[in-house]
This record gives sequence, C-alpha cells and structure tokens, in this order.
Amino acid sequence: MKVVKFGGSSLASGKQIEKVFNIVNADPERKIVVVSAPGKRFSADHKVTDLLIACAERRIQGEDPGELSEAVLERYGLIADELELCSDIKDIIKEDLFERLSSDTSDPEIFMDLIKASGEDNNAKLVAAYFQKQGVEARYVNPNEAGLLVSPEPGNAQVLPEAYDNLSSLREQDGIIIFPGFFGYSTDGQVFTFSRSGSDVTGSILAGAVKADLYENYTDVDAVYSVNPFIVERPKEIKELTYREMRELSYAGFTVLHDEALVPAFRAGIPVQIKNTNNPSAPGTRIVNERDNTNGPVIGIASDQGFCSIYVGKYLMNREVGFGRKLLAILEEYGLSYEHTPSGIDDISIILRENQFTDGMEEEILGRIQHELHADEVKIQHSLSLIMVVGEGMRQNIGTMARASKALAKAQVNMEMINQGSSEVSMMFGVQALDEKRAVHALYDEFFAAAAVMW
Ligand code: ASP
Repeated sequence: MKVVKFGGSSLASGKQIEKVFNIVNADPERKIVVVSAPGKRFSADHKVTDLLIACAERRIQGEDPGELSEAVLERYGLIADELELCSDIKDIIKEDLFERLSSDTSDPEIFMDLIKASGEDNNAKLVAAYFQKQGVEARYVNPNEAGLLVSPEPGNAQVLPEAYDNLSSLREQDGIIIFPGFFGYSTDGQVFTFSRSGSDVTGSILAGAVKADLYENYTDVDAVYSVNPFIVERPKEIKELTYREMRELSYAGFTVLHDEALVPAFRAGIPVQIKNTNNPSAPGTRIVNERDNTNGPVIGIASDQGFCSIYVGKYLMNREVGFGRKLLAILEEYGLSYEHTPSGIDDISIILRENQFTDGMEEEILGRIQHELHADEVKIQHSLSLIMVVGEGMRQNIGTMARASKALAKAQVNMEMINQGSSEVSMMFGVQALDEKRAVHALYDEFFAAAAVMW
C-alpha cells in the first residue's frame, strides 16, 4: 500500500482536487491520502493557513476576525461550488471555524494551533466529501480518533512514540482514508501543530506506522532540483538521492520537503517519491537509503540566509576542560539552538539562526560570555548565508573541497567559514549574504555545468 500526501498548491482549487482524485483513483494501492490546507492558486494569492493565522492574531488581540474568517470560508465555498458539492460541507466547515474562533484565547499559543489546524482538518472533510460524490469508498479520519499523539509544543510538536502503534490499525481499514496533515493531539486531547509545512511530517508518520511500501509526496514541481531554480535557471533534476542527502538539502533551504519529514520514513525503511500533481507522468525524485554514487561527488547545492556567528577567542581554550559546555549552557539559558560550531585551538564560532534573538538579548549574551568565561575576544557577525554542498559521493572522491574553494575564489567570494560535517555527506560554507547567489552559481558551474563533460 501507498501513503500519498498532497501539498497546498495541489488542493488550492476544485480543478486541482479533481487532479488529486484522478491520481489516487488510478492506483488501488493509494489507500491513505494526507492533505494540506488549500494553498496559493497564483503567486499573489493567500494560503488558507496564513489567513487562519491572521484570524487567530485578531482574536487574540480581542478583535473580530471579520473579513479574514469570511475569506477563509470563501475559499472553501469556491472549491465546494466548483466541485458541485452539496451545501452541507460548507455548513460543516463554517460551524467548525466559528466554534474554534469562539473558544478560549487565554493561552494564545494553544488557541493559535487550534485555528491553524482547522485549515487541513476542514480540507480533509471537503476532499472526503468529493471522493464520496465520485462514488468511491472514502472517509475522513480525525487524528484524535486515529491516535496521532504529539508533544504539547505549540507550533513545533513532535510525534510521540506510542502514536505509531495507534496509527498502525489504519492499514486494516477498508476504502480510502482522507487524513488531515499538520497536527496531532496531546495526551490530554488538545490540538498541537507541527512546524510550518508539517503535513509532510504527518504523511511520513503514517507511512511509517502502516508500513507502507511507498510514501508519495505530491507537490508542484517535477523533481527535486540540484539547486534552487530561482537562483540557477533550469537546473539539473535529481532522480534519486538518499535520506541523508535530502535532510541536509532541506535543512539548508530546499523547500520541496519539510526537513523533519524524512525520519519516520527512514526509520521504517520506506522510500519516498516526490511527484508533481500537475504532471503525474513525470518520474519525480526517489529518496532511498542507499544509492549508486555514479553522478560524481555532489548531488545538490542548497543555501539559506539569516544566520549569525558568535566568535569566541581565548588563549589555551583547548586545555580548558568544560569551556564548550559553559558556553553552550549560556545559550541554553536563553532557549537558543545552534546550528554549527566550527572550532580551532584557541577559538570557537557558534552559528545560530538570527531570528531567535529578541531585543537586547544579543548584547547580554556577548557580555556574559566575555565576563563569565573570561574570553579574550567575543564578537558577532551578522547577515551570513550558509551554503551546503551535499553528496554521499564526497566520501570516495578526493579533491571536492579543493574544487569548491577554487570555484568560490574564482568568483571572488570570501569564505567566512568552512565546516565539513563528520558524516562527510556535506560541506558547509559561510559567506556574506550579499555573495550568496554568486557563490551558488560558481559552485553549480563547477559541479554540474561541467558535469556533462566530466562524467
Ligand atoms: N498548511 C500548513 C502550512 O502552510 C502545513 C502544510 O501545508 O504542510 O504550513
């Protein structure tokens, strides 16, 4: 059996939902369908999830969401009309949204998750109604009923281990299951969502729980590309890559798949296939445990902005037992997570996402590091971009780093930092945000444009 997940753009209109139906109906193995909330129909359009967030914010401020909740209902209404569904489904969605909006806002984060989750929940009900109208045995399944238990972390929930056992019984059910993505329930019955784009995570959890043969993830591109197509025109498509490669690429900016979506499928050994709802005959990209490294050392290049680096220098740091622990403990006290820690004998840099800092936090932390750890030098560098050059083939290939750094030097890009992950699946370069695109072009030219000649 297959678990199939459809993203927001695949469900943004009645026409798109017809495509979804045809895809599911074409293969009897497609038994569990995970849906996102309706996404954008065109680039200036609003995602339903974004409208819901705005609704919740208004209510939290004690105001009436007014035209925002109307806009949400209008989106579902248009889809229902396009699919010629009877008006019951519109009433069900309206009642559900108003009931949620009138609930207690005293814990704003919990309220926010309740409203956000309605996007996928109501879309699953609508999609199930359409499948039934087409004469197919299909039913909406609520994550609470199915036992999708998650940790009580608003906007950032994690699946609980016992959820897998609960969800495994979905395998035995007849007909097609339409399951809302993006959220689960805490053990005391409250709604908590995964982080944004988390319907991918739901699909992966279900695939792992029911031991599916394949997890198909339908989106709006033909494949995972070897580099961001907004930076390099018509880049090479990736036919097959490993979970580890995909995880590294998603972490550093590839948005095709949520970077936490791979673990459940990976643990259960289930391959993931990325496909295009708008072009289902395209083979797409397959994510597997192992692959032949026949394409050279690099499979993809990703980049992401918004990082900063805290540099700490202290003579004889290498001999000071516990220095790293004390440094990280300070960050921990402020609830900051770090991404990388390249280090030397007498210095260490901590790379963090800049958006974690609140007002005044930065100065306070730098001051504390200086005084409490008696550092010789503490400084912070802002506006960094990280570029990840990823490929399992790096392990067997000599000179990949040399080629990358030569290409960057030729493009006049100053490398602020280099880090090769211990797994040797990726190399990371820190560059000034202004140099990011130039750096990505240079690396792509080095590893891919020349590829036709070299391999
Ligand atoms: N609708 C949610 C979001 O926009 C989750 C998802 O689409 O996967 O983030």
